[in-house]
Amino acid sequence: MSQLEQTQSRYRSLRMSAAADELVSLLAQAEANEASYLSFADQLAEYEMVQRQHKRLTRNLKLAAFPSEKRLEGFDYRHQSTISKRQVNALLDFGFIDERNNLVFIGPPGVGKTHLAIGIGHKAVEAGYRVLFRNALDLVEELELAEMKGELKKRVNQLAKHDLLIIDELGYLPMTRQARFNLFQLINSLYEYRSIILTTNKDFTNWGEFFHDDNVAVPIIDRIIHHSHIFMLGGESYRLKQKTKS
Ligand code: ADP
Ligand code: MG
Repeated sequence: MSQLEQTQSRYRSLRMSAAADELVSLLAQAEANEASYLSFADQLAEYEMVQRQHKRLTRNLKLAAFPSEKRLEGFDYRHQSTISKRQVNALLDFGFIDERNNLVFIGPPGVGKTHLAIGIGHKAVEAGYRVLFRNALDLVEELELAEMKGELKKRVNQLAKHDLLIIDELGYLPMTRQARFNLFQLINSLYEYRSIILTTNKDFTNWGEFFHDDNVAVPIIDRIIHHSHIFMLGGESYRLKQKTKS
């Protein structure tokens, strides 16, 4: 084993495999720049740290399961004037997550609710929060499956491990009574403990109707609204506008 291979192997046993992989080029760089011993020692550590952060971010983004790569940087506030960049930026210190508050985006289809939810969720992952995105119907199905296996509580606890749960498109299709009950179990577990971003096309005044005015629905709505910032989004559908442009 050469000296280089031995050093790389030592780094690997110390779990510094990124530095081990990059050792040759880091060495060449240091030699070319006549770097000091201290600066080289620092560069190795820095390289390993940056690579680890990058890996962690990639892993957490994958775990968040965003359905698409929407970013706040790509959000056009000239098109969507019922929410301002200042309002959105004010959310990005994530005080709302730390204080276990919810965000609710209400509005008709195509006005950017999902885009905003993913964009904010993405920033939250970057800031180190555990985030999970779920379409409301998928979530309900997931809970139903767990419930059938007698594992509802377990699944709810797993979901509640996230700092932020994004529930997208609640209210688009009606739910069975059992589905509403399962959802209530989840919301109840998250209440004042975790944050939710909810997007919906239903104004709260219509929610009673959507949930069939039953005694499970009212507490769900109550608990989501209780500590929440509500944003009513309006305007034209962005999709339609793009269509008519071309
Ligand atoms: P909603 O969830 O309100 O139905 P979406 O967020 O899915 O709407 O938006 C529909 C499409 O239009 C998406 O591709 C989204 O990225 C885009 N879009 C909507 N509003 C904007 C906006 N203000 N700036 C940029 N893209 C937008
Ligand atoms: Mg949507």
